[in-house]
Amino acid sequence: MSDEVGKIKIGLEVHCQLTSLATKLFCSSPADYRERPPNTNICPVCIGTPGSLPALNRKAVYYATMVALALNFKLSDRMLFFRKNYFYPDMSKNFQITQYDRAGGVPFATDGYIHLDSGKKIRLGRMQLEEDPAKLSYDGTIDSSTKTFVDYNRAGVALIEIVTEPDLKSPREAREFLNKLTSIVEHLGVSDLGLEGSVRCDANISLAGGRRVEVKNISSFKEVERALSFEMTRQKSLTSKGISIAQETRHWDDVRRITISLRVKEEEQDYRYFPEADLVPVVLSKGFIKDVKSDMPELPKERERRFQQEYNLSGETAQVLVKEKGLADFFEDSAKYSKNAREAGSWLAVDLQAFLNEAGKELADLEITPKHIAELVDMVSNAEVSRGAAKTIFLEMLKTSKMPRSIAEEKGLKVIADSKFVEDVTEKVFKENPKAVQDAVKDEKAINFLLGQIMRATRGRVDPAVANRIVREKLSAVKSSE
Ligand SMILES: [Zn+2]
Repeated sequence: MSDEVGKIKIGLEVHCQLTSLATKLFCSSPADYRERPPNTNICPVCIGTPGSLPALNRKAVYYATMVALALNFKLSDRMLFFRKNYFYPDMSKNFQITQYDRAGGVPFATDGYIHLDSGKKIRLGRMQLEEDPAKLSYDGTIDSSTKTFVDYNRAGVALIEIVTEPDLKSPREAREFLNKLTSIVEHLGVSDLGLEGSVRCDANISLAGGRRVEVKNISSFKEVERALSFEMTRQKSLTSKGISIAQETRHWDDVRRITISLRVKEEEQDYRYFPEADLVPVVLSKGFIKDVKSDMPELPKERERRFQQEYNLSGETAQVLVKEKGLADFFEDSAKYSKNAREAGSWLAVDLQAFLNEAGKELADLEITPKHIAELVDMVSNAEVSRGAAKTIFLEMLKTSKMPRSIAEEKGLKVIADSKFVEDVTEKVFKENPKAVQDAVKDEKAINFLLGQIMRATRGRVDPAVANRIVREKLSAVKSSE
C-alpha cells in the first residue's frame, strides 16, 4: 500500500475569486453578485455586446500581486491578456479573457511554492488573472437534464488561477496544501473563502504508470480529499483487474460522492488563444511592487513565529492555530481576556480540535466566544476548578454556549478550598485508613495515598494545595502524640 501511495501524482488547479474587490475585473459592475435576481448584475462589457471595451481593474492587479508575492511567485515583467475562444453558454462573448497561452503567452507569475508542515515543497507552476464565466444551473441532475439556465451576474468577476506541479502524493497532502493556501489568502484579506463558490478546484491524479484523470468542479476544498480518495480507489481497483485507466475528465458528484465520466480525451482542446487587442500589456513598476510589499499584512508563517514569542506557545500549538485565520483571531482575542495565553492556546489547539473533528463541525458552527475560553483558563489558573472538572465544563460549554463559571456552579464542580470542610474529610479518611496513616508518618512518600483518598471522597473537588497542607498538619500531630 505505502509503496503504491508513493507513486501517486496529484496536481491541483485552484480558482479563487477576489471577492474583496468592489467591481468586476474589466467593468464597473459590482463584484458582489450573490443574492441578486438573475441577470441583473451585468453591463455591455461583461456581456460583451459589440463596441464595449474592457478596462483592467487596477485593484485586482494589486491583490493578485499580493497573492503572487505571498506564494513566493516570480512576477512576470510584462504580462498580456489573451482571448481563450470557446463556444459555451457560460460566456456570451464566446471567449474568456485570461492570460495563459501555450504559444508564448505570459501568465501573471511563475515558479511559486508552498511548504507543507513536513517541510516538503509543493511547486506552483503558474498563476494567472482571468474573468469568471457565468453560472449555469440545471433542471434536474446533469445526467438527465432537460433545461439549463444561465445567470450572467457572475460573468467577469476577477479570478486568480493557481496551478501546482504534480507534487502531491496523497489526498491528505492535497488537503493540507489547500488548508495552507486558504490560510494565506485569508490572511491577505483579498477573498472571503466562506462565500459560496468563491473557491473551486480541479484535480488531476495518476497512479504509477497510469494515465492522467482530471476531476472537475470540486465545489469546496473539503470535498477535494474525498474526491481524490474515491478516484484513487477506483483507479486501483481497475488496475488490479487488469483494466487500463482511460485518460479522461470526470465530474465530482458531491451528493452521491462519486466521480462520473464526462468525456474521454482524445487530444487537447484547441482554444485558439490570441492576444486581447483591447487591453494593453501590463508592466508592474518597481514602485508598485514596493507599495504592495509594504502593505502586505502578516502571513501565517510570521504569525506562527510571533505566537511562539509573544504568547509563549509551543511550535506545534502555534502551527495548529494559524491553519485557519478565524481560529488564530479567536486565539488572540482569548489571550487578550485571559491571564494565561499559553493555556488558552492549548485548549483551542488540542481540546477544541478534537471536539470539532469528532463532531464534524467547524469553529464557526459553535456559539462560544473568546471570553468563554478566557474565563475557563482563568478558573483553572486560579484553582477554582480542577483540570478534570475543566474538561467537563469545556465540553458542556461547547454544547450549550453557557459561560464556564455558571456551568461549574450548576454542576457543583467548583473546587472547595474551605479549610473546615477539608479538615472534616481528612479526619474521616484518617479514621478509615489507620495503616496508611502509620505508613505516612514513617515515610513521606506514602502521603500520596491519603491525598488520593481525599480526592476520591470529594470527586476531585478539593483544592490540592489546601488538602496537602492539612494532611501534613494532621500527620505531624499524630507523630508528636506518639
Ligand atoms: Zn459589467
